[in-house]
Amino acid sequence: MEIIKKIKDMQHVIKIEKQKGKKVGFVPTMGFLHEGHQTLLKEARDNNDIVVLSIFVNPLQFGPNEDFDAYPRDCIRDEGIAKNLGVDYLFYPSVDEMYKGERTTLIKVEKRVDVLCGKHRPGHFDGVATVVMKLFQIVSPDRAYFGMKDAQQVAVIDGLINDYHLPIELVRVDTVREEDGLAKSSRNVYLSEKEREKAPYLYKALILGKEKVLEGQKDFLKVKKDLEEYITLHTGAHVEYLEIYAYPTLQELQAPMEDQNIIIALAVKFSKARLIDNIVFSYNKGE
Ligand code: AMP
Repeated sequence: MEIIKKIKDMQHVIKIEKQKGKKVGFVPTMGFLHEGHQTLLKEARDNNDIVVLSIFVNPLQFGPNEDFDAYPRDCIRDEGIAKNLGVDYLFYPSVDEMYKGERTTLIKVEKRVDVLCGKHRPGHFDGVATVVMKLFQIVSPDRAYFGMKDAQQVAVIDGLINDYHLPIELVRVDTVREEDGLAKSSRNVYLSEKEREKAPYLYKALILGKEKVLEGQKDFLKVKKDLEEYITLHTGAHVEYLEIYAYPTLQELQAPMEDQNIIIALAVKFSKARLIDNIVFSYNKGE
């Protein structure tokens, strides 16, 4: 595995690989790799000639009072994991390298961001779309792997790829969970021992919500209220949002239609950790 820190060097090696006819699979991350990231990397390894992993904690997608400085980082451990999983190139740029000189443009996401995390983290998805566009220009992947844990991010990247005619296949990977159902996340390390015991109730609430919708409950306001109460009762944490939308458009659902893809998504704030999770399912067939 080669570790590359400079944009020009990354572009150069990719150019050579492409001249040899190699297909490139790309997994963008912020590091502190866990089994969720590893699943993306394994899928990329199985389906491409070359695997590129990027690790970059992108300041542009963090708000002023968010955890950019505190975001967990462990480059030595990450390098070992990447090597073991057969990553070919680890792209590991500094903030200065990625945002050299004055920035003159910003990708502004206009759809699918007025709800969920987009509503609660203003500018977050502009930062995500901008850095992903930059990374796509650097790595020129044939396929890019994103986790459904961040379902709104997948919807935004799907729009980005379509809007800019990028010749990249977006591969969606199902959320990887702990045995008790908690979605794997780099931010789970912020949970206290007590909070960690209660955190699986987030996924339990999502399953309950899916059951209620599939049973035919049409009053989504009531379903949402019941689920919020369920989470508050079992975790004592603050429910920032719990919403039900069509997926991937993230538009309001009045009465779901047959085969309609539905997402129930939530963000819950514990004392130090803000966790997100979601469940996506088809109105008829189940998940
Ligand atoms: P992050 O490092 O949090 O920016 O995540 C990098 C990529 O890994 C994103 O596409 C995430 O959606 C994906 N990811 C994070 N956690 C999980 C998980 N538990 N299951 C599947 N994918 C995940």
